[in-house]
Amino acid sequence: MFSKHVSKNISAYCHGELSVDESREFSEHILACARCRSAYEEIKLGIKFAEQLPQLSPSASLWQNIEAKIETTPASRPGSGWAFLNSWQTQLAAAAVVLLVVAVLGIWWMRRPPLPPPVNTVASWEVERVNGTVRVGSCDVEKKAQLTVGEWLETDGNSVAQVAVSSIGHVEVDSNTRIRLVTSA
Ligand SMILES: [Zn+2]
Repeated sequence: MFSKHVSKNISAYCHGELSVDESREFSEHILACARCRSAYEEIKLGIKFAEQLPQLSPSASLWQNIEAKIETTPASRPGSGWAFLNSWQTQLAAAAVVLLVVAVLGIWWMRRPPLPPPVNTVASWEVERVNGTVRVGSCDVEKKAQLTVGEWLETDGNSVAQVAVSSIGHVEVDSNTRIRLVTSA
């Protein structure tokens, strides 16, 4: 006969809590079933070790100490210090408040008005060399360069440059010209 596994009854068996029939079934089963037998051996060993541990009773002074601590802890006296934080109801309420604040902040964050597009604080116009030697500041322009506010654009006797004026249009800068970008708005 091979009944179902008895591992859940091991503890009860070890403590003599099974009926006579159950005990018989148990011992028959573990003889036949290696799995339940090894579980039984393990638990039996654990119980044996536990029984060998000395039983210690706490000293009377230890308990008096604990009592004294309980009485002097502010939390044990209603209405004093942070005692109100000690009940689980208030902790739950505090957690709920925190959650509510987080939720409100989250909704505010999602519904806030969009930020205005960033203002282009460093204004610059694009310079394109058409002909000859064109200088922006102290640099020769090879093909294109940026003319920022405060910088000079120079053309010599046989050079021509083209400046893109923001989004308005183009200005052709003729030869022998010196212009400075004062402001761009
Ligand atoms: Zn078994």
